[in-house]
Amino acid sequence: MGGTFDPVHLGHLHAAQYAREEFGIEKVLFMPAGLPPHKDNICLSDAAHRFNMVALSVKGNRYFGVSDFEILSRDTTYSIDTVKEIKSHMQDGAVLYFIIGADTAPFVKTWKSHTELEQLVTFIVVSRRGNEVKRNILKNCEILNAPVLEISSTEIRARIKEGKSVKYTVTDAAQNYIRDNALYGFYSSLYPKITRHLKTVLSERKFTHTLGVEKEAVRLCQMFGGNEEKARVAALLHDAAKNMPSDEKLAACKKYGIKLDSVLKSQPNLTHQFIGAKIAEDLFGITDSEILNAIKYHTTGRKNMSHLEKIIFVADCTEPYRSDYDGLAEIRAAAKESLDRAILVAIKFSIEYVKAKGQPLHPLSLEALEFTIQEGK
Ligand code: ATP
Ligand code: MG
Repeated sequence: MGGTFDPVHLGHLHAAQYAREEFGIEKVLFMPAGLPPHKDNICLSDAAHRFNMVALSVKGNRYFGVSDFEILSRDTTYSIDTVKEIKSHMQDGAVLYFIIGADTAPFVKTWKSHTELEQLVTFIVVSRRGNEVKRNILKNCEILNAPVLEISSTEIRARIKEGKSVKYTVTDAAQNYIRDNALYGFYSSLYPKITRHLKTVLSERKFTHTLGVEKEAVRLCQMFGGNEEKARVAALLHDAAKNMPSDEKLAACKKYGIKLDSVLKSQPNLTHQFIGAKIAEDLFGITDSEILNAIKYHTTGRKNMSHLEKIIFVADCTEPYRSDYDGLAEIRAAAKESLDRAILVAIKFSIEYVKAKGQPLHPLSLEALEFTIQEGK
């Protein structure tokens, strides 16, 4: 069963399952297309993502498998080449079926070497909405009268972009993968909602700072790699609790079960990073641990920070709208080299700053500093 699988959905899996049982097929091999000849004008997700989603979705079904044959090929792959490759691994006389949807069937005649293809495989044509299947649509074909699951990848992509759920249309594993890799604009529907909220809880100065961090985080992703969508969400929400009055902060800590250590007790302001992560979860339904941790440790840092944690930590220090402070130029210079260099310099300066003010340093910052030094960065 070939396709772009952008993403693979229950319609694909159901059709494959039905065909397998109906025709006594030993194994269904899903073949995500690399650069499909008929879809070269559209924007396709990375082949690796499309492959991974299929692999995760068929895992545990011993009758289903996935092949990377087409996605690993450098050039456009034609079905005829793939079919010949598969045939070369099959016993003589074994039947090779090619499962396609009814919307695809009329186009087979336009495929490269379709006459030869029709001799090599038996097509199984599965009905799809608005596509009546004619018995003789292809020379060598079987019509599968399966109950149709009217799901399409196009519709799934559109729903995700609008912030709607795709539960029950893709496997849970694929759903998690889409969230974890922020595919199809997974977070884009949140930006306006978050911004609206921030305007009501942040001072104008903090709001501008937040937009600066967002901008800087995207820039750092472009320099050092990283998922821009996730970085934007984390940046937007990093200071969501910053302007809460102290008593509200303490109440929020109580509500969210955030424990107050001695440093937090003496500096309730520092709780804003922990509360921010909870707000992201609570008000905006964010469950991605990378995003939540990037918010949660953006001020103190911690040992062994993830790439996104580092991006937000550094962006917070170096964002373009910041007015000058001790160390800014040094941190910006270090950030041209690497995130770790920037973190090292930033923590050293914050130690000085905290000492000068006679405040205690949070143990998480010390751990971050020691860890970064130990790693020799
Ligand atoms: P898109 O909307 O991006 O075209 P799609 O849902 O049609 O995606 P493809 O990857 O294009 O998915 O489909 C691979 C193959 O599976 C095609 O032959 C297609 O006709 C068939 N197919 C897709 N969805 C279904 C479905 N719900 N039921 C049966 N067959 C399907
Ligand atoms: Mg399609």
